[in-house]
Amino acid sequence: MSQNVPITVAYGDGIGPEIMDATLRIIQAAGARIDIDTIEVGEKVYLSGNTSGIADSSWDSLRRNKVFLKAPITTPQGGGYKSLNVTTRKMLSLYANVRPCIAYHPYVDTHYPNMDVVIIRENEEDLYAGIEHQQTDEVVQCLKLISRPGCERIIRYAFEYARLYGRKKVTCFTKDNIMKQTDGMFHAIFDEIGAEYPDIEQEHWIIDIGSAKLADTPEVFDVIVTLNLYGDIISDIAAQIAGSVGMAGSANIGPNCAMFEAIHGSAPRRAGQNVANPSGLLMGAVQMLVHIEQPDIAENVHNAWLKTLEDGIHTYDIYKEGLSKEKVGTKEFADAVIARLGQKPSQLKPVHYTTGKKMNLPAVGRKAPAAKEIAGVDIFLHWHGTDAMELGNAVKALDVPGMSLSMISNRGIMVWPKGFPETYCTDHWRLRYKPAEGTTINHQQIVNQLNAIMGAGYDFIKTENLVRFNGKDAYSLGQGQ
Ligand code: NAD
Repeated sequence: MSQNVPITVAYGDGIGPEIMDATLRIIQAAGARIDIDTIEVGEKVYLSGNTSGIADSSWDSLRRNKVFLKAPITTPQGGGYKSLNVTTRKMLSLYANVRPCIAYHPYVDTHYPNMDVVIIRENEEDLYAGIEHQQTDEVVQCLKLISRPGCERIIRYAFEYARLYGRKKVTCFTKDNIMKQTDGMFHAIFDEIGAEYPDIEQEHWIIDIGSAKLADTPEVFDVIVTLNLYGDIISDIAAQIAGSVGMAGSANIGPNCAMFEAIHGSAPRRAGQNVANPSGLLMGAVQMLVHIEQPDIAENVHNAWLKTLEDGIHTYDIYKEGLSKEKVGTKEFADAVIARLGQKPSQLKPVHYTTGKKMNLPAVGRKAPAAKEIAGVDIFLHWHGTDAMELGNAVKALDVPGMSLSMISNRGIMVWPKGFPETYCTDHWRLRYKPAEGTTINHQQIVNQLNAIMGAGYDFIKTENLVRFNGKDAYSLGQGQ
């Protein structure tokens, strides 16, 4: 018998304590070899004045134990509170969010009896970097940051996951027809890493039509890998259409630590009534048991749970007259699963977890720096006027040696030297400067240009260099350019 594994547990808010109690009772009854270290996170911690919702001593527990089973928490309404989930994922570098969304037909009502999709969502980057600024009276900005190592890690994880769990296909969802740099990089790395997995079928869908297809015929998908925001949205939809958002677990995996949870929130309206479905958190705990190399316990719990569903013992969210046999509360559902430990479902497919096989996830190294040239600069202005021609003609006269104003755009659309009077302009303007053909510029010239603009009384907001990496332009054109 192997030694107990220390894990950190948080009971959370709302329905959290009830579903955590049910989950722990089940896995302990199944013989999970764990030592529990309980921490307090969430609403109480936020309301005590800690804006991140977690105390320093709790971080110590997480970093020591490296395995976190977390019930959902409530983020108080109002500004100033940082999402604990996002903070935990990013602080502990839990880059892969794994969300299996499976139909349990005919025992749980669904339009998609054959649905069995695993969504693997990038968990650290994208618009969730939380870097937002108001730049003018009218315009706010959120930075979408995508890194090469971030893409490499999550895409390799998806292919390795598919290989380990015998899945046949990995589908990538992006919007690279519009976001050619950010989503374009994700797609390009999908193709690059995919080439190392010829045994696995692979395809790419644009996220909009891909999501429509997922909502219409989810059974054609197997593993889906996508960026953070898209993954957040489609995994909730996928879980809901599979049967109930209360049924899906979620694993957040990093190179050192991992966090396991339900995908749903704290459902405060259902709290304290012994009605919540503990299945989502229980499925998170099953993922945890596999992660801590107790596949025998994971398998026992998972099969007993399937048998309970099959026997028609259902919480209110999945109870259906004619389909279900007994409507039970959280505690009674847990008791029913415990009573079925050691049993397997006879109609639903039993699960089988094995030990020994591991994913091959080498650390992502940093590549040698590329040859980098500055091929221009975008200078953003807060300007109260509305006439692009007036701005263009005035600012053009301020060109410094080696720099030439080539274009002005407003919300990405070219409005000078050409444009349509129909284009609506806000107070947020981008001036694009380019050097003479075949030449580059330097930082000093950018500073000189800023000085000239500032000297003429314009309010600049920020600059973005137009960079060429290894001779290739690495920025987008203005729309209409
Ligand atoms: P929610 O997922 O908590 O609840 C939405 C609805 O889904 C509930 O009203 C309920 O009808 C149903 N539901 C959810 N879980 C269920 C379960 N286990 N059993 C039965 N029915 C269930 O979403 P929300 O109402 O938007 O969010 C409530 C709070 O949860 C917010 O404070 C939010 O910030 C937080 N939240 C936390 C997490 C997390 O901790 N991982 C995730 C999402 C939302």
